[in-house]
Amino acid sequence: MNETHDVSLESWVGSATTRETDFPIQNLPFGVFRHRGSRETPHIGVAIGEEILDLARCAERGLMVSLPEAVGEACSVPNLNALMALPGAQRRELRAVISGILRMGSAQHREAADLLVAQSDADLDLPVRVGDYTDFYASIDHATNVGSMLRPDNPLLPNYKWVPIGYHGRASSIVVSGSPVVRPAGQTKAAEAARPTFGPSAMLDYEAEVGFYVAGSNALGEPVRIANAWDRLFGISLLNDWSARDIQAWEYQPLGPFLAKNFTTTVSPWVVTSEALEPFRVSRAARPAVDPEPLPYLSSEEDRERGGISMTVEVFLSSSRMRDEGIAALRLSRSELASLYWTPAQMLTHHTSNGCNLAPGDLLGSGTISGPENDARGCLLELTWRGRDPVTLPTGEQRKFLADGDEVIMRGRCHADGAVSIGLGECRGTIFPSRS
Ligand code: MN
Repeated sequence: MNETHDVSLESWVGSATTRETDFPIQNLPFGVFRHRGSRETPHIGVAIGEEILDLARCAERGLMVSLPEAVGEACSVPNLNALMALPGAQRRELRAVISGILRMGSAQHREAADLLVAQSDADLDLPVRVGDYTDFYASIDHATNVGSMLRPDNPLLPNYKWVPIGYHGRASSIVVSGSPVVRPAGQTKAAEAARPTFGPSAMLDYEAEVGFYVAGSNALGEPVRIANAWDRLFGISLLNDWSARDIQAWEYQPLGPFLAKNFTTTVSPWVVTSEALEPFRVSRAARPAVDPEPLPYLSSEEDRERGGISMTVEVFLSSSRMRDEGIAALRLSRSELASLYWTPAQMLTHHTSNGCNLAPGDLLGSGTISGPENDARGCLLELTWRGRDPVTLPTGEQRKFLADGDEVIMRGRCHADGAVSIGLGECRGTIFPSRS
């Protein structure tokens, strides 16, 4: 940790000093924005309270002259990929400079005040050009719940406690929070039916996840050791892995998820850096004594002691009727990122362990974040036990799965003793009717 994490640090941006803000000066997440409604080339910005500091214009105005030229250049492109390609030391220098600009008493206060844009006057873009996207399955509670619906006597497959399970997702359909989610159509087959039919999914679900963005690159054939994995983590955002359970049930064997998952994945617009997460690193979730120790390539003392991230993920649902009647969104679940069976470093290390190359801006999903409690289940499949126990909304409406017009809102917040709490902002998506 360093002076950018200091709890006594305050910003001259008033909205960044409230207790509730997701974006105090200790956070400084990166995003990509344009002025609302404009068609200008997007700029990289940093969220501070309810404002955005325009980094591209900071570079233009010479507020970053103390940094290597490559850093200013990386701030002047319309996505975060070039920042993600910078060496870790330069990313840390950039954070120190931004923290210096925004802190109370800064000599650059006047110049920078001009370069603030209210978040309410901005449209946020997809922050990263994601080259490759992989989704993991790192919550043992999620894996156990889903497994026990399919195999009541043997919910966890024998590989689960040895291998961080994942599948290759699709990057082209990743969208930013607020983008519409069109109900997918596909093949489904009821258990008792002789043949499948094609039509709109009737079991559309969300999955509450966190996305890890990759920094730097490793050459093809060159695995990343677990000791170096945290440095390859640029930062995190919220991720909603929308899933069509009826399509999934029919298509998933033997090669895993395909069209049930790749129609849309929503990410939140702000990327909270791994450096901002330093105060919230906690020990890896304890494993029962009967569980195997991870194989040596997935094990290090640092990962055991500081491989987890203390963050609460909440999911809210609002139906169109609730919005019409002015009723607040209903919280469906609340779960903990630190409860995952596999850490981000273990997932990244495993991903490259065969020599697979990861590039700046690649995205790794955590998998649905569920906990052992009933209200810590991170998708409707688990919450309603595949529709057996519907959720009742404040209007009296019931949900087994998502209806057209439903909006799903995810929030994430990090807490630790002796640290200023930071948040990830929101990840929203509303379901639109199928076009089939
Ligand atoms: Mn998933």
